[in-house]
Amino acid sequence: MVLRTITKRLISQTRSRKLTVSSISRSLSQLHSRPSFGIAFDIDGVLLLGSTPIGGSQKALAKLYEDNGALKVPYVFLTNGGGVTESKRASDLSSILGVDILPSQVIQGHSPFKKLAKRFENDLVVAAGKGEPAEVMYEYGFKSAVSIDEYASCFDNIDPLAPYKIWGVRQTDPKPASRKVSKGDIMSQRVKAAFIVSDPVDWSRDIQVLCDILRTGGLPGREVGKQPPLYFANDDLEYQAAFPSERLGMGAFRIALESVYNRIHPVGLEYTSYGKPNPFVFENAESVLKELLLLNATGSNKEAAHQFKKLYMVGDNPSVDINGARKAGHPWFSILTRTGVFKGKDNHPKYPADLVVDTVEEAVNFILSKEADW
Ligand SMILES: [Mg+2]
Repeated sequence: MVLRTITKRLISQTRSRKLTVSSISRSLSQLHSRPSFGIAFDIDGVLLLGSTPIGGSQKALAKLYEDNGALKVPYVFLTNGGGVTESKRASDLSSILGVDILPSQVIQGHSPFKKLAKRFENDLVVAAGKGEPAEVMYEYGFKSAVSIDEYASCFDNIDPLAPYKIWGVRQTDPKPASRKVSKGDIMSQRVKAAFIVSDPVDWSRDIQVLCDILRTGGLPGREVGKQPPLYFANDDLEYQAAFPSERLGMGAFRIALESVYNRIHPVGLEYTSYGKPNPFVFENAESVLKELLLLNATGSNKEAAHQFKKLYMVGDNPSVDINGARKAGHPWFSILTRTGVFKGKDNHPKYPADLVVDTVEEAVNFILSKEADW
Protein backbone atom coordinates (compact mmCIF):
# COMPACT_ATOMS: atom_id res chain seq x y z
CA MET A 1 0.00 0.00 0.00
CA VAL A 2 2.76 2.36 1.07
CA LEU A 3 4.83 1.26 -1.89
CA ARG A 4 1.93 1.95 -4.26
CA THR A 5 1.44 5.40 -2.80
CA ILE A 6 5.12 6.21 -3.16
CA THR A 7 5.20 4.85 -6.68
CA LYS A 8 2.11 6.86 -7.58
CA ARG A 9 3.64 10.01 -6.14
CA LEU A 10 6.91 9.49 -7.94
CA ILE A 11 5.03 8.87 -11.15
CA SER A 12 3.05 12.09 -10.86
CA GLN A 13 6.12 14.09 -9.89
CA THR A 14 8.03 12.54 -12.73
CA ARG A 15 5.43 13.40 -15.30
CA SER A 16 5.91 17.05 -14.50
CA ARG A 17 9.59 16.68 -15.33
CA LYS A 18 8.90 14.85 -18.59
CA LEU A 19 10.95 11.85 -17.48
CA THR A 20 9.56 8.44 -18.21
CA VAL A 21 8.45 6.15 -15.40
CA SER A 22 10.54 3.38 -16.84
CA SER A 23 13.70 5.47 -16.55
CA ILE A 24 13.18 5.77 -12.81
CA SER A 25 12.28 2.12 -12.37
CA ARG A 26 15.35 1.19 -14.33
CA SER A 27 17.38 3.59 -12.30
CA LEU A 28 16.37 2.20 -8.94
CA SER A 29 15.94 -1.44 -9.86
CA GLN A 30 19.47 -1.49 -11.14
CA LEU A 31 20.89 -0.85 -7.71
CA HIS A 32 22.76 -4.15 -8.03
CA SER A 33 22.76 -4.57 -4.30
CA ARG A 34 21.03 -2.31 -1.83
CA PRO A 35 23.50 -0.07 -0.02
CA SER A 36 23.03 0.26 3.71
CA PHE A 37 24.01 3.92 3.57
CA GLY A 38 22.65 7.11 2.10
CA ILE A 39 23.77 10.70 1.66
CA ALA A 40 22.12 14.09 2.29
CA PHE A 41 23.77 17.06 0.61
CA ASP A 42 23.27 20.66 1.58
CA ILE A 43 23.18 22.81 -1.57
CA ASP A 44 24.37 26.40 -0.94
CA GLY A 45 28.07 26.54 -0.10
CA VAL A 46 28.53 22.80 -0.75
CA LEU A 47 27.39 22.05 -4.30
CA LEU A 48 26.71 25.58 -5.55
CA LEU A 49 27.57 29.22 -4.94
CA GLY A 50 24.58 31.04 -6.40
CA SER A 51 24.02 28.88 -9.44
CA THR A 52 27.68 28.01 -10.07
CA PRO A 53 28.85 24.45 -9.24
CA ILE A 54 31.70 24.36 -6.70
CA GLY A 55 34.01 21.85 -5.04
CA GLY A 56 33.88 19.38 -7.94
CA SER A 57 30.15 18.89 -7.28
CA GLN A 58 29.30 17.68 -10.80
CA LYS A 59 32.03 15.04 -10.68
CA ALA A 60 31.08 14.08 -7.14
CA LEU A 61 27.40 13.46 -7.98
CA ALA A 62 28.29 11.60 -11.18
CA LYS A 63 30.06 9.03 -8.99
CA LEU A 64 26.70 8.12 -7.41
CA TYR A 65 25.39 6.80 -10.74
CA GLU A 66 26.25 3.80 -12.90
CA ASP A 67 27.82 4.47 -16.30
CA ASN A 68 24.40 4.01 -17.92
CA GLY A 69 22.92 6.77 -15.76
CA ALA A 70 21.20 4.46 -13.23
CA LEU A 71 21.25 5.57 -9.60
CA LYS A 72 23.85 3.67 -7.58
CA VAL A 73 23.67 5.34 -4.16
CA PRO A 74 20.50 6.81 -2.61
CA TYR A 75 20.93 10.50 -1.92
CA VAL A 76 18.83 13.60 -1.28
CA PHE A 77 19.35 17.34 -1.25
CA LEU A 78 18.63 18.71 2.21
CA THR A 79 18.52 22.49 2.00
CA ASN A 80 16.99 25.24 4.11
CA GLY A 81 16.58 27.27 0.91
CA GLY A 82 13.55 27.35 -1.32
CA GLY A 83 11.02 29.61 -3.02
CA VAL A 84 10.16 27.28 -5.90
CA THR A 85 8.38 23.93 -6.07
CA GLU A 86 10.41 20.76 -5.55
CA SER A 87 9.79 19.74 -9.17
CA LYS A 88 11.16 23.04 -10.50
CA ARG A 89 14.18 22.87 -8.17
CA ALA A 90 14.89 19.29 -9.28
CA SER A 91 14.75 20.34 -12.90
CA ASP A 92 17.05 23.36 -12.30
CA LEU A 93 19.53 21.25 -10.29
CA SER A 94 19.52 18.56 -12.98
CA SER A 95 20.63 21.01 -15.64
CA ILE A 96 23.24 22.75 -13.44
CA LEU A 97 24.73 19.57 -11.95
CA GLY A 98 24.40 17.35 -15.02
CA VAL A 99 22.58 14.39 -13.43
CA ASP A 100 18.93 13.29 -13.49
CA ILE A 101 17.39 14.44 -10.19
CA LEU A 102 13.89 13.45 -9.03
CA PRO A 103 11.59 15.96 -7.27
CA SER A 104 11.38 13.49 -4.36
CA GLN A 105 15.15 13.88 -3.86
CA VAL A 106 14.73 17.58 -3.10
CA ILE A 107 13.89 18.46 0.50
CA GLN A 108 13.64 22.22 0.98
CA GLY A 109 13.10 24.34 4.08
CA HIS A 110 9.42 24.69 3.30
CA SER A 111 8.80 21.04 2.35
CA PRO A 112 7.37 20.26 5.87
CA PHE A 113 4.61 22.85 5.24
CA LYS A 114 2.95 20.07 3.18
CA LYS A 115 1.96 18.41 6.45
CA LEU A 116 -0.15 21.47 7.38
CA ALA A 117 -2.09 21.50 4.10
CA LYS A 118 -5.09 19.56 5.45
CA ARG A 119 -5.48 21.94 8.41
CA PHE A 120 -5.51 25.07 6.23
CA GLU A 121 -6.80 23.49 3.01
CA ASN A 122 -9.53 26.05 2.27
CA ASP A 123 -8.38 28.90 4.53
CA LEU A 124 -6.93 32.17 3.33
CA VAL A 125 -3.18 31.96 4.02
CA VAL A 126 -0.44 34.43 3.10
CA ALA A 127 2.88 33.21 1.68
CA ALA A 128 5.95 35.48 1.76
CA GLY A 129 9.40 35.26 0.19
CA LYS A 130 11.39 35.36 -3.03
CA GLY A 131 10.44 33.21 -6.00
CA GLU A 132 6.97 31.71 -6.18
CA PRO A 133 5.80 31.30 -2.57
CA ALA A 134 2.07 31.06 -3.32
CA GLU A 135 2.69 28.55 -6.12
CA VAL A 136 4.69 26.38 -3.71
CA MET A 137 1.85 26.46 -1.15
CA TYR A 138 -0.79 25.81 -3.80
CA GLU A 139 1.09 22.74 -5.01
CA TYR A 140 1.21 21.48 -1.40
CA GLY A 141 -2.62 21.71 -1.22
CA PHE A 142 -3.29 25.14 0.28
CA LYS A 143 -6.12 26.07 -2.06
CA SER A 144 -6.42 29.70 -0.93
CA ALA A 145 -2.75 30.66 -0.65
CA VAL A 146 -1.95 34.21 -1.69
CA SER A 147 1.50 35.75 -2.07
CA ILE A 148 2.24 38.72 0.18
CA ASP A 149 2.75 40.78 -3.03
CA GLU A 150 -0.79 40.04 -4.17
CA TYR A 151 -2.19 40.45 -0.66
CA ALA A 152 -0.55 43.87 -0.10
CA SER A 153 -1.69 45.09 -3.52
CA CYS A 154 -5.34 44.70 -2.43
CA PHE A 155 -5.06 47.26 0.39
CA ASP A 156 -4.64 50.91 -0.65
CA ASN A 157 -1.87 52.71 1.23
CA ILE A 158 -0.91 49.70 3.35
CA ASP A 159 2.73 50.45 2.46
CA PRO A 160 3.27 54.24 2.65
CA LEU A 161 6.78 53.78 1.20
CA ALA A 162 5.53 52.11 -1.97
CA PRO A 163 5.66 55.33 -4.06
CA TYR A 164 9.37 55.64 -3.25
CA LYS A 165 10.22 52.11 -4.31
CA ILE A 166 11.43 53.03 -7.75
CA TRP A 167 12.83 49.59 -8.54
CA GLY A 168 9.34 48.42 -9.50
CA VAL A 169 7.70 45.05 -9.01
CA ARG A 170 8.23 42.08 -11.27
CA GLN A 171 5.45 39.53 -11.05
CA THR A 172 7.20 36.24 -10.38
CA ASP A 173 4.39 34.29 -8.77
CA PRO A 174 1.85 33.52 -11.50
CA LYS A 175 -1.71 32.95 -10.40
CA PRO A 176 -3.03 29.67 -11.82
CA ALA A 177 -6.44 29.98 -13.44
CA SER A 178 -7.76 27.32 -11.06
CA ARG A 179 -7.13 29.51 -8.04
CA LYS A 180 -10.21 31.36 -6.86
CA VAL A 181 -9.17 33.98 -4.35
CA SER A 182 -10.71 37.31 -5.34
CA LYS A 183 -9.76 40.77 -4.09
CA GLY A 184 -13.10 40.78 -2.25
CA ASP A 185 -12.20 37.53 -0.46
CA ILE A 186 -8.79 38.85 0.46
CA MET A 187 -10.19 42.08 1.91
CA SER A 188 -13.04 40.48 3.86
CA GLN A 189 -11.66 37.12 5.06
CA ARG A 190 -9.37 36.69 8.01
CA VAL A 191 -5.90 35.36 7.23
CA LYS A 192 -5.72 32.05 9.12
CA ALA A 193 -1.94 31.61 8.91
CA ALA A 194 1.17 33.28 7.50
CA PHE A 195 4.06 31.29 5.99
CA ILE A 196 7.54 32.65 5.35
CA VAL A 197 8.38 30.31 2.48
CA SER A 198 11.74 31.81 1.43
CA ASP A 199 13.88 34.88 2.11
CA PRO A 200 11.63 37.97 2.03
CA VAL A 201 12.50 40.54 -0.64
CA ASP A 202 10.94 43.79 0.60
CA TRP A 203 11.59 43.64 4.35
CA SER A 204 9.99 47.01 5.21
CA ARG A 205 6.72 46.21 3.42
CA ASP A 206 6.63 42.61 4.64
CA ILE A 207 7.27 43.57 8.28
CA GLN A 208 4.52 46.19 8.03
CA VAL A 209 1.97 43.90 6.40
CA LEU A 210 2.76 40.91 8.62
CA CYS A 211 2.43 43.09 11.75
CA ASP A 212 -0.95 44.26 10.36
CA ILE A 213 -2.11 40.67 9.79
CA LEU A 214 -0.73 39.23 13.02
CA ARG A 215 -1.87 41.90 15.50
CA THR A 216 -5.44 42.13 14.14
CA GLY A 217 -6.22 38.43 14.00
CA GLY A 218 -5.87 38.42 10.21
CA LEU A 219 -7.72 41.56 9.04
CA PRO A 220 -5.40 44.57 8.49
CA GLY A 221 -6.75 47.95 9.54
CA ARG A 222 -9.17 46.45 12.08
CA GLU A 223 -9.14 46.09 15.87
CA VAL A 224 -6.53 44.07 17.75
CA GLY A 225 -7.21 40.31 17.66
CA LYS A 226 -5.64 36.93 18.40
CA GLN A 227 -2.46 36.26 16.45
CA PRO A 228 -2.87 33.69 13.67
CA PRO A 229 -0.14 31.01 13.45
CA LEU A 230 3.14 32.07 11.82
CA TYR A 231 5.55 29.56 10.25
CA PHE A 232 9.11 30.04 9.01
CA ALA A 233 10.76 27.61 6.58
CA ASN A 234 14.07 28.00 8.45
CA ASP A 235 15.81 30.13 11.04
CA ASP A 236 19.18 30.66 9.35
CA LEU A 237 20.79 33.86 10.55
CA GLU A 238 23.28 33.82 7.70
CA TYR A 239 24.06 31.71 4.64
CA GLN A 240 26.75 31.57 1.99
CA ALA A 241 25.78 32.82 -1.47
CA ALA A 242 27.87 34.19 -4.34
CA PHE A 243 29.16 37.21 -2.35
CA PRO A 244 32.46 36.57 -0.48
CA SER A 245 30.99 37.00 3.02
CA GLU A 246 27.76 35.52 4.43
CA ARG A 247 24.37 37.09 3.67
CA LEU A 248 21.51 37.73 6.12
CA GLY A 249 18.94 34.95 5.97
CA MET A 250 15.42 34.21 7.14
CA GLY A 251 16.52 34.07 10.78
CA ALA A 252 17.63 37.70 10.51
CA PHE A 253 14.23 38.62 9.08
CA ARG A 254 12.55 36.74 11.95
CA ILE A 255 14.57 38.74 14.50
CA ALA A 256 13.60 42.01 12.78
CA LEU A 257 9.91 41.09 12.62
CA GLU A 258 9.83 39.79 16.19
CA SER A 259 11.62 42.87 17.58
CA VAL A 260 9.22 45.28 15.89
CA TYR A 261 6.11 43.22 16.71
CA ASN A 262 7.02 42.92 20.38
CA ARG A 263 7.44 46.70 20.60
CA ILE A 264 4.02 47.50 19.12
CA HIS A 265 1.97 44.61 20.53
CA PRO A 266 1.45 43.68 24.19
CA VAL A 267 1.71 39.92 23.61
CA GLY A 268 4.98 38.49 22.27
CA LEU A 269 5.16 37.02 18.76
CA GLU A 270 4.49 33.29 18.56
CA TYR A 271 5.98 31.31 15.69
CA THR A 272 7.27 27.93 14.56
CA SER A 273 10.52 27.53 12.60
CA TYR A 274 11.28 24.53 10.42
CA GLY A 275 14.47 23.53 8.59
CA LYS A 276 17.84 22.28 9.80
CA PRO A 277 19.04 21.89 12.57
CA ASN A 278 15.68 20.48 13.75
CA PRO A 279 16.16 16.71 14.21
CA PHE A 280 12.80 15.94 12.58
CA VAL A 281 14.22 17.29 9.29
CA PHE A 282 16.84 14.53 9.45
CA GLU A 283 14.22 11.93 10.38
CA ASN A 284 12.23 13.02 7.36
CA ALA A 285 15.34 12.82 5.14
CA GLU A 286 15.90 9.27 6.39
CA SER A 287 12.37 8.25 5.44
CA VAL A 288 12.73 9.86 2.00
CA LEU A 289 15.96 7.91 1.46
CA LYS A 290 14.15 4.73 2.52
CA GLU A 291 11.36 5.48 0.04
CA LEU A 292 13.96 5.79 -2.72
CA LEU A 293 15.36 2.39 -1.83
CA LEU A 294 12.01 0.71 -1.23
CA LEU A 295 10.55 1.78 -4.52
CA ASN A 296 11.42 -1.42 -6.28
CA ALA A 297 12.37 -3.65 -3.36
CA THR A 298 10.57 -6.91 -2.79
CA GLY A 299 10.51 -9.54 -0.03
CA SER A 300 13.73 -9.74 1.96
CA ASN A 301 15.17 -6.82 0.02
CA LYS A 302 12.42 -4.69 1.48
CA GLU A 303 13.48 -5.66 4.98
CA ALA A 304 17.15 -5.16 4.17
CA ALA A 305 16.43 -1.70 2.85
CA HIS A 306 14.55 -0.76 5.95
CA GLN A 307 17.54 0.15 8.12
CA PHE A 308 20.46 2.31 7.14
CA LYS A 309 23.72 1.58 8.93
CA LYS A 310 25.02 5.02 8.12
CA LEU A 311 23.64 8.28 6.76
CA TYR A 312 26.06 11.00 5.73
CA MET A 313 25.22 14.71 6.02
CA VAL A 314 27.52 16.84 3.87
CA GLY A 315 27.22 20.53 4.78
CA ASP A 316 29.12 23.82 5.04
CA ASN A 317 27.34 25.39 8.02
CA PRO A 318 28.38 24.04 11.45
CA SER A 319 25.43 25.47 13.41
CA VAL A 320 22.88 24.19 10.89
CA ASP A 321 24.16 21.11 9.03
CA ILE A 322 26.59 19.68 11.58
CA ASN A 323 24.59 20.67 14.66
CA GLY A 324 21.50 19.09 13.07
CA ALA A 325 23.22 15.81 12.22
CA ARG A 326 24.70 15.66 15.73
CA LYS A 327 21.30 16.22 17.31
CA ALA A 328 19.72 13.59 15.06
CA GLY A 329 22.32 11.07 16.33
CA HIS A 330 22.70 7.53 15.01
CA PRO A 331 23.01 6.69 12.11
CA TRP A 332 24.03 10.21 11.02
CA PHE A 333 27.69 10.97 10.29
CA SER A 334 28.54 14.63 9.63
CA ILE A 335 31.02 15.91 7.03
CA LEU A 336 31.90 19.60 6.99
CA THR A 337 33.25 21.21 3.80
CA ARG A 338 35.34 24.38 3.59
CA THR A 339 33.58 25.78 0.51
CA GLY A 340 30.89 27.84 2.26
CA VAL A 341 30.15 29.31 5.70
CA PHE A 342 32.95 27.29 7.37
CA LYS A 343 36.45 28.20 6.24
CA GLY A 344 38.47 27.11 9.31
CA LYS A 345 41.68 25.10 9.26
CA ASP A 346 40.69 22.64 11.97
CA ASN A 347 37.29 21.42 13.11
CA HIS A 348 34.57 23.79 14.33
CA PRO A 349 34.97 24.33 18.10
CA LYS A 350 31.28 24.41 19.04
CA TYR A 351 29.81 21.97 16.53
CA PRO A 352 32.68 19.65 15.53
CA ALA A 353 31.94 17.45 12.52
CA ASP A 354 32.86 13.75 12.34
CA LEU A 355 35.05 14.69 9.37
CA VAL A 356 36.27 17.97 7.85
CA VAL A 357 37.19 18.06 4.15
CA ASP A 358 37.94 20.76 1.59
CA THR A 359 35.24 19.95 -0.95
CA VAL A 360 32.14 17.87 -1.63
CA GLU A 361 34.16 15.75 -4.08
CA GLU A 362 36.54 14.84 -1.26
CA ALA A 363 33.52 13.98 0.92
CA VAL A 364 32.06 11.64 -1.73
CA ASN A 365 35.46 9.99 -2.30
CA PHE A 366 35.70 9.34 1.44
CA ILE A 367 32.18 7.88 1.62
CA LEU A 368 32.67 5.61 -1.40
CA SER A 369 35.98 4.28 -0.13
CA LYS A 370 34.54 3.73 3.36
CA GLU A 371 31.50 1.93 1.96
CA ALA A 372 33.37 0.07 -0.79
CA ASP A 373 32.07 -3.32 0.38
CA TRP A 374 28.35 -2.64 0.51
MG1 LIG B 1 24.83 25.77 3.14
